[in-house]
Amino acid sequence: MRKVQGFINGEYVSSGVYGDIFSPATGELICQYDVTTPEQVDQAVKAAEDALKGPWGKISLQERVDILYKIADGIEARFEDFLEAECIDTGKPQSLARHIDIPRGAANFKVFADTIKNAADEAFHTPTPDGTGALNYTVRKPKGVVGVIGPWNLPLLLMTWKVGPALACGNTVVVKPSEETQLTTTLLGEVMNEAGVPKGVYNVVLGQGAVVGEALITNPGLDAITFTGSTKTGERIAAAAAKGIRDSSLELGGKNAGIVFADCDMDKAIEGTLRSVFANCGQVCIGTERLYVERSIFDEFVQRLKEGAEAFKLGASDDPETNMGPLISAAHREKVLSYYKAAVDEGATVVTGGGIPEMSEELAGGYWVQPTIWTGLPETAKVVQEEIFGPCTHIRPFDTEEEAIELANDTPYGLASSVWTENNSRAHRVAAQMDTGICWINSWFLRDLRTPFGGAKQSGTGREGGHYSLEFYSELTNICVKL
Ligand code: NAD
Repeated sequence: MRKVQGFINGEYVSSGVYGDIFSPATGELICQYDVTTPEQVDQAVKAAEDALKGPWGKISLQERVDILYKIADGIEARFEDFLEAECIDTGKPQSLARHIDIPRGAANFKVFADTIKNAADEAFHTPTPDGTGALNYTVRKPKGVVGVIGPWNLPLLLMTWKVGPALACGNTVVVKPSEETQLTTTLLGEVMNEAGVPKGVYNVVLGQGAVVGEALITNPGLDAITFTGSTKTGERIAAAAAKGIRDSSLELGGKNAGIVFADCDMDKAIEGTLRSVFANCGQVCIGTERLYVERSIFDEFVQRLKEGAEAFKLGASDDPETNMGPLISAAHREKVLSYYKAAVDEGATVVTGGGIPEMSEELAGGYWVQPTIWTGLPETAKVVQEEIFGPCTHIRPFDTEEEAIELANDTPYGLASSVWTENNSRAHRVAAQMDTGICWINSWFLRDLRTPFGGAKQSGTGREGGHYSLEFYSELTNICVKL
């Protein structure tokens, strides 16, 4: 059985208290981890504070950029190790993690190395009453010690999305991965050491959010907290960050809508929507859990999405045919199944799925659910209102563009949306009216890492990506020179 340990001041540390990790695919105990003690959380924050004063705080921008490139190269050199670790932890198909989680996890270091290297600072020539003027320019400095708290759905990718820019800006970090998925975050410690990252720059603490996460976010040594996870936990992080007036960046939940117009390219819309609803077994924050389809194509769309959903091959992560994995945990499966039941109780038509699939003997103990589609529910239904985070969606017909926009925006969340139409004017008109941080036209999860990513309404605060990340991870000093 695997054992993983926290990583503090460049070394793996034991605590003698163990937590269990179960395989999502089989339900078997696959890993034990050393639960980080509150004293060790303090040590991790202290190590991160000391590292700011040590060599890390003094190296040149070019040296930092070189180190970030070495980290990315280190992940790529151990690609298969990271792939295996991520897939054991999450049960996701290797075919998915090979193309998304691991390469993008590595790319996050290179992208932000390039961003910081090319970042321009603003300068202003300021007129003064005596006519000599003043010059204003800006110096960018690290914020300090950044607490990084991540979810379990894309563990490496979403963690490096924060650690990459944090280190690029010269900060040090204490990372707490989700208690469900710790393998790649801890493995990254080895890569950090090999890449020459000074001790204490990258630290990892392990354990439950309510205990170890709390110990971290309430530690006064943190200068900022960056979080990806549920809206409920986000509220708690924001409250903890308020003590001591620390900045927080929150990427939270969603209840994302897709709007499909009759003038869409049906093949493209079906292919894209199958991905947006079912990728990663529906455990993607930007996934589509509400679909609004123009009435004249409603029946055809529902039928074709059903056929696509029923064609998914659920199975072992390393089976090249597998294109859908299990849910992350027994508890999460219970939650998703409770929504499957609620949909039926509220009168849904179950187009497909709605239960637990029959799996081979080897996989029968895993946390599998059927890809599921409902129709016929009012907008007030639980499964139309609340984020489920499973492979499921509700489809409702609409008659006018205005109606579709109103329905799509009628949610407390505002993370992502997608619009399917071949009418260019309509595409831009509708997209601009989406109250979401991102709107895809005729695509989904097409990301340019230089663009701002984040949520409106209860889906989060702030934006990350490109120079938007630099804003969060740096402190600016305006230097005003009287000439
Ligand atoms: P979660 O909020 O339960 O947990 C996220 C992390 O917070 C975990 O590491 C957890 O241990 C920690 N945590 C929990 N309570 C804490 C506390 N009191 N103090 C400190 N840390 C605490 O979320 P999850 O179930 O891991 O992830 C799923 C959620 O994440 C979904 O709502 C999904 O939409 C959201 N998500 C959002 C994005 C985005 O970019 N907006 C991306 C991925 C996932």
